[in-house]
Amino acid sequence: MISAERYLAPTSLVQALAALADDGGATVLAGGTDLMPQSHAGRVRPARTLLNIRRVSGLDGITQDDGALRIGTLTTVATLLSHPLVRAHAPLLADAADHFASDQIRNAATMGGNLCNASPASDLATPLLALDAEVELAALADAGAVRTRRVALADFFAGPGRTQRAADELLCAVRVPLAPAGQRTRFYKGGTRPGLDISTISIALAAQRSSAGVLAGVRIALGAVGPTPVRARRAEAMLEGQAPDANAIERAAACAAEKATPIDDVRASAWYRRELVHNMTRRMLTDVCHP
Ligand SMILES: Cc1cc2nc3c(=O)[nH]c(=O)nc-3n(C[C@H](O)[C@H](O)[C@H](O)COP(=O)(O)OP(=O)(O)OC[C@H]3O[C@@H](n4cnc5c(N)ncnc54)[C@H](O)[C@@H]3O)c2cc1C
Repeated sequence: MISAERYLAPTSLVQALAALADDGGATVLAGGTDLMPQSHAGRVRPARTLLNIRRVSGLDGITQDDGALRIGTLTTVATLLSHPLVRAHAPLLADAADHFASDQIRNAATMGGNLCNASPASDLATPLLALDAEVELAALADAGAVRTRRVALADFFAGPGRTQRAADELLCAVRVPLAPAGQRTRFYKGGTRPGLDISTISIALAAQRSSAGVLAGVRIALGAVGPTPVRARRAEAMLEGQAPDANAIERAAACAAEKATPIDDVRASAWYRRELVHNMTRRMLTDVCHP
C-alpha cells in the first residue's frame, strides 16, 4: 500500500511543479493503474509526497496546432480510442488503444502515465514511436516561471522503468505530427488474449505508399523485445524509397527481428518473440505494400 506522509492535489501547473521541486521530491499519481499495484507489491517506494495531478488544469484535452496533435498527459486510453482528432490524424494510436486492457482500466489509465512508467511492453509507446511523437516536459524555472522542453520519444526511454524525465519535471503533453497524406499504419499486439494481457510483443508500423508502390517515412517500432521500446531503424532504411517485392519484405522483416533482444519469461521464450517479430513484421509489411 502507498505510505506517503503528505498528499497534495493541486489545481495549477505551478503548484504541481513546486511540489516536484521541493526537497525530497514527490511521486506523481495520475490514473494509478501502474502506481497502485506496484506500490502494493512493494516494487516501487513512493516519495514522501504523493502528488495527484488529476485536478491540474491544462493537462487534459487534445488540440491541433502547428501541424501536430497536442495530447494532454491526462488523456485516458478510452479518450484516445474515441476522440475524432485522434481517429482522423493518428489512427494508429486509436488502434493501439483498442488493444489496451479493459474498459475499466482504459477509463483510468492516462497516456502520460503509460509513457512515464516506461515499461518495455507499453502499448502506447510503439505507436507513438512510429508516429515520431515528442514529449513536452515542464519544470519550475527561476522566479516561478514554467520552463518547458521537448524530447523525441525515441530518446525518452532510458531502461525498464527509467526515462530522461528529471525528478522535478512533469510530462505535460505529447505532440504527434498529423498523419501525412497516404500514410498507412498497422498495430499488432501478441498475447494470449486480444486486450487484457501484457504484450508478448507489439509492433507498430507506419509508411506512406505512392500509387507506384514506393514507400516513404517508413517507421517500425517494437515493444517487449528489449529493455525499452525501440525503432528498427536498419529495417526501415532497407524499405525507404523502395517498392519492395516479397523478397525485399522478407529481408526487412528478418532485419527487424535482429533488432529484437528479448528475454525468456513467463509469457514467452526469447526465440518465440523473435519469430513473432519476424513473421508479423513480414505480414504487416505485405499488407501495407500489397493491399
Ligand atoms: C489490469 C491492468 C491491465 C493493464 N493493461 C495494459 C495494457 O494492455 N497495455 C499497457 O500498455 N498497459 C497496461 N496496464 C498498465 C497501465 O494501465 C498503463 O501503463 C497506464 O497507462 C498507466 O497510466 P496511469 O495514469 O494509471 O499511471 P499511474 O499509475 O498514475 O503512473 C504511472 C507512473 O508514471 C508516473 N507519472 C504519471 N503521470 C506522470 C506525468 N504526467 N509526469 C511524470 N510522471 C508521471 C507515476 O509517478 C508512475 O511512476 C494495465 C494495468 C492493469 C492494472
